[in-house]
Amino acid sequence: MRKLIEVALPLEAINRESAREKSIRHGHPSTLHLWWARRPLASARAVLFASLVDDPGEYLPEEEARRERQRLFDLMERLVDWDLVKDPEGAEGENGVIREARYEIARSLARALGEAPPASPKDEERIEALLEKAPPVLDPFAGGGTIPLEAQRLGLKAYASDLNPVAVLINKALVEIPARFAGQPPVNPGYRAKAQATDRFPRAKGLAQDVRHYGAWMREEARRRIGHLYPDLEGKRVIAWLWARTVACPNPACRAEAPLVRSFWLSKKKGKEVFVVPEVQEGRVHFRVERGKEPPVEGTVNRRGGRCLVCGAPISLDHVRKEGKAGRLGARLMAVVTEGPGGRNYHAPTLEHEEVAKGAVPWWKPDIEFTKNSRHMTPWVYGLESFSDLFTPRQLVALTTFADLVAEAREQVYRDALEAGLPDDGLPLAEGGRGARAYAEAAGVYLAFGISKLLDRSSSLCVWDAGWVKIAHVFNRQALPMTWDYAEANPFGEATGSWEGMVEWVAKALEALPA
Ligand SMILES: [Zn+2]
Repeated sequence: MRKLIEVALPLEAINRESAREKSIRHGHPSTLHLWWARRPLASARAVLFASLVDDPGEYLPEEEARRERQRLFDLMERLVDWDLVKDPEGAEGENGVIREARYEIARSLARALGEAPPASPKDEERIEALLEKAPPVLDPFAGGGTIPLEAQRLGLKAYASDLNPVAVLINKALVEIPARFAGQPPVNPGYRAKAQATDRFPRAKGLAQDVRHYGAWMREEARRRIGHLYPDLEGKRVIAWLWARTVACPNPACRAEAPLVRSFWLSKKKGKEVFVVPEVQEGRVHFRVERGKEPPVEGTVNRRGGRCLVCGAPISLDHVRKEGKAGRLGARLMAVVTEGPGGRNYHAPTLEHEEVAKGAVPWWKPDIEFTKNSRHMTPWVYGLESFSDLFTPRQLVALTTFADLVAEAREQVYRDALEAGLPDDGLPLAEGGRGARAYAEAAGVYLAFGISKLLDRSSSLCVWDAGWVKIAHVFNRQALPMTWDYAEANPFGEATGSWEGMVEWVAKALEALPA
């Protein structure tokens, strides 16, 4: 029997909703973990539905088939609308569009199997029984997990695989783990102290609450260990420290420490324009912060080369490459951004803040050379040849501290899960476990995703975005291009680049998953 997809699809609606999805952020599954080649959920949902539902022309006379097809198209137009799908409770509830879609799939399955169809979308038992017999969905190159996730949303069995272990973990976190602990109340003692018998935690809502709880614990523990590296400025919490790489001026009569700055802009917001003004005093460049129309000096380096602000000599990129390969690139603090009651504040750098940052001593770093591809990975051309070169010492300290704390949090979840009554079967997540050990590992997966997200905003390849006045992420595109000036986030803040923000992104995505 021909399926709907073989005859026609409401392409306009599918395209429109697929394009719109790119701008949807909070609570969307795509925010769980970065994946580049992400496919729109809307098109996967539409294609799965239309591949399983019979074309009405197969069982109705022409005129009736046309009307029935139109009715199915109307349903599909709602089915691709994220706003009607994003809350699984509503979408699966009475008059919910997912429930309606499952009913239509079940009707086609009944026709193919010669079994009794469900009486209505409310006939959940019959629908479930028929969906059990649906052909399973297999996605051998599942990538970001779009197809298995949407298969699960429609009540279908899905199998997924990928060669990339990151993709495999994303798929497990999207589809497999939430289903395994669906309905499980949180195990953290904070919740248990005020638990009510009437509490309900549908799907992964309990797990998401635990991710928030242990994420907050990690933040406080990290603050205790390394908080001294992140001082306030003038009583305000710092959002970001803005740095400029430096190179010795090639002019032998000068040799000044020349800051390499792509742009001195701090805020391009209309009416709130702020920028850094470099000043030369006794052969050394100093920075102050000014409001005004535009910066007197746009920058000191571009694709063609740089310029020394002290003597005006040109600085060739070849010179920068040579100095970089000799390990002689430095860094200067250029400005500090803080958050106050009135919004963002911009400050000139202080010696204290520069010294605190430079005094951080990492006890581990990823000394792994990266590929020498000068098209997509340019830092090595300037002597930054190892992954560890892409971080400030303070970033390395913070990232290793938070990463260590994931393992500690996992042990704590394990103990709390035992107290909450989860079985002590010792069976790990990877072996199908559902007990305390597996639950702790599950929480660890999502906390580790938080580290991934933190990493994406904690590298010296993160530039300051003066338009959005926030830290840009490393993977603006699928490349690691060299940066001259860069922004170092405060993981203990509340703005972009903070640990709290990362955990919240993950928890929000997790609690909105259909499982
Ligand atoms: Zn010079």
